[in-house]
Amino acid sequence: MTHQFVYEALPMRVRFGVNSLATLPEELDQIGLKRVLVLCSPEQEDTGHRVAQALGDRCVGVLPEAVMHVPNEVAQRASDEAARVGADGCVAVGGGSAIGLGKAIALKHGLPIVAVPTTYAGSEMTPVWGLTTDGRKETGKDPRVLPRSVVYDPELTATLPAGMSVTSGINAIAHAVEALYAPDATPIISLMAEEGVRALAAALPAIVANSSDPEARSNALYGSWLCGACLGATTMSLHHKLCHALGGTLNLPHAQTHTVVLPHALAFNQPAAPDATAALSRALGGAADPAERLWQIAGELGAPRTLAELGMKEEDIDRIAEEATSRSYGNPRPITFDDVRGILHAAWAGKPPS
Ligand code: NAD
Repeated sequence: MTHQFVYEALPMRVRFGVNSLATLPEELDQIGLKRVLVLCSPEQEDTGHRVAQALGDRCVGVLPEAVMHVPNEVAQRASDEAARVGADGCVAVGGGSAIGLGKAIALKHGLPIVAVPTTYAGSEMTPVWGLTTDGRKETGKDPRVLPRSVVYDPELTATLPAGMSVTSGINAIAHAVEALYAPDATPIISLMAEEGVRALAAALPAIVANSSDPEARSNALYGSWLCGACLGATTMSLHHKLCHALGGTLNLPHAQTHTVVLPHALAFNQPAAPDATAALSRALGGAADPAERLWQIAGELGAPRTLAELGMKEEDIDRIAEEATSRSYGNPRPITFDDVRGILHAAWAGKPPS
């Protein structure tokens, strides 16, 4: 094989480790932030206040309003609040929803973000923003929304219920899977992808066995950092297009949808992506068929395996297949409407991937 690629590193600073939340003031000092607004979801208001406490008088407010898919009106309110309190930056603590809200403010006002992720979704490592207006989610890329610093403290993930940890972890694995066969794949990102899958595949069963196991929590967050970096550095294909259509059109839950669809999308792409399949096989303990192994892992860890149980109706399959094939994009294997309909039907019914 001869190598040919273009690689551009994203300018990010990452601090990782137990108790790194305590170093948040130093991170703000690095960037020169003196008046930050803390963003979190209503369910994580306590965590938001914990962060505020760690920041002392550098914090000018806690806004517990982040919700899934960043509705435009929430983004507008949050931007107004940031302006009202004279914030010079935001600290977004939580999953992709809280970080997404920080990105919406960054997009409007250019305020820098420090992210403190508490799920494995990976948004903190990407320059991708999303905004939902009248039920339609628009996404785009802008370097201004890339967090300036990311503080990973595994202790903050200990409260993420085991079930959500599994689906969020498989959501992270999905980024690595598609980075391995991306049109803009590069050797360094492929190494990160393989290691990310390896770390998460080992950590998730340990979390299910004991959700406060510190080593498992650290390994899972480490894996999610790597997988998030893969998402930020490459262009996603079929799997992410399907999940975007399912989430945007039917409002299916993000991490669970990724968990159900991934084995089926991967099974479709595997024959056209031998190097990616070999890397995944190594990361999954020598599994002969990585797609099948991911499907088994989801079953063993009690994760959902049907789109039906997430609320999708069989009659929605054609609509989603149409949406997911309405625009062409890079994918290792050419895709037809019938292919996508078949993948969606298998995922909807919970058949083994084939
Ligand atoms: P989320 O942020 O919506 O979190 C789900 C729920 O879990 C929330 O109620 C949250 O408060 C709670 N939670 C989070 N961490 C917790 C913890 N440690 N303990 C207890 N509860 C906790 O879900 P998500 O899956 O992290 O993110 C999904 C959203 O992020 C979607 O809107 C998706 O489109 C977006 N996303 C964007 C990107 C990107 O690059 N732009 C990447 C991944 C995801």
